Amino acid sequence: MMTVPRFALALALAVFQIGVTVSRGAEPGARPPLATRNVVLVTTDGLRWQEVFRGAEESLINKKDGGVANVDALRRDYWRDGVEARREALMPFLWKTVAREGQLYGNADKGSPARVTNGKNFSYPGYNELLTGAADARINSNDKVPNSNVSVLEWLNHKPGYQGKVETVGSWDLFPYILNVKRSGLSVNAGWEALALAGKSLNESQVLLNQVMMQSPRLWEGCRHDAFTFPVAMETLKHQTPRVLYLSLGDTDEFSHGGRYDHYLRAAHDVDANLKQLWDTLQSRPEYRDTTTMIVTTDHGRGDPPRGWRDHGENTKGSDAIWVAVLGPDTPALGERKDTAVVTQSQVAATLAAFLGEDYCAAVPAAAPPIAEAIGRASQAAAVSAQP
Ligand SMILES: [Zn+2]
Repeated sequence: MMTVPRFALALALAVFQIGVTVSRGAEPGARPPLATRNVVLVTTDGLRWQEVFRGAEESLINKKDGGVANVDALRRDYWRDGVEARREALMPFLWKTVAREGQLYGNADKGSPARVTNGKNFSYPGYNELLTGAADARINSNDKVPNSNVSVLEWLNHKPGYQGKVETVGSWDLFPYILNVKRSGLSVNAGWEALALAGKSLNESQVLLNQVMMQSPRLWEGCRHDAFTFPVAMETLKHQTPRVLYLSLGDTDEFSHGGRYDHYLRAAHDVDANLKQLWDTLQSRPEYRDTTTMIVTTDHGRGDPPRGWRDHGENTKGSDAIWVAVLGPDTPALGERKDTAVVTQSQVAATLAAFLGEDYCAAVPAAAPPIAEAIGRASQAAAVSAQP
């Protein structure tokens, strides 16, 4: 220590004072390490930014355009006069917790746009962009074709410290193809698939979950109801303790294609309740508490009322618009973002890796850079340059 020059000590002190919550063996002058050791990524298919930021849409709370069965009940549950009260009624965890402790991107009404860049605005191109960090024009259908691109999940799963510690649980049965499980070796439970835990026998409640799931009437053959996907994910979290968990939900897309705005809103509300339960569980467990970041987003947007909200795709105006929420120990509590640069779906992969201290763009130069302000590095850099 005695031979260390004084400016190095001053620099180390300055870096320390920037306000890092955990310093795990930081070397003098090195960028302070992040607190995040685990990441949970959640997507809910095709949930519009309009409902996230504005709450229920009044012109769809009816039988004619929204297919609503009980208009009075839906209004009672989700209609409020002000935008703030309305969105909080629909997604209370996002607006009471994430908007206070984390960040929300994608409110086009406030100059914070978020978009997909694949130009297709449907699911396989979207999940590919989201998980690999770049759009791929060759992916132009939702056919069950194994993805030739390597996802950030596969990339992490090959790194020391992550092998066998990356889990995916999804509603849609395309995920084994999107994540190319034959090549990647990733653990994926998707579609109408029973819960199975590697190396563990199932307990009574897990057996019951499987029985109810496999005997339930199926609204959609290719998409398991989120009511089953979520408990499968929770059991996976509890018993496999992954460092990276990807939970992919699907009800929001299926119900809007079906023209049922009531089911769509209730599905969004359930997603929010699931996020709260997931977050509370993470914070209650020592292996995840204060060391886990949650990223929540969607694969595409949808069109506008009266009919376009049911659809999305190249020809549906506005369906490239998405939203991204981030909550965790390294995310500055800037809440609902305003007047930001455009955030793209392709940034999510490198953002996820960056929270774990991994440089995905160095390995995959085609991948878009992390959302710096969500990780707090931009504010750290600003603080460094502001030092006299
Ligand atoms: Zn769809």
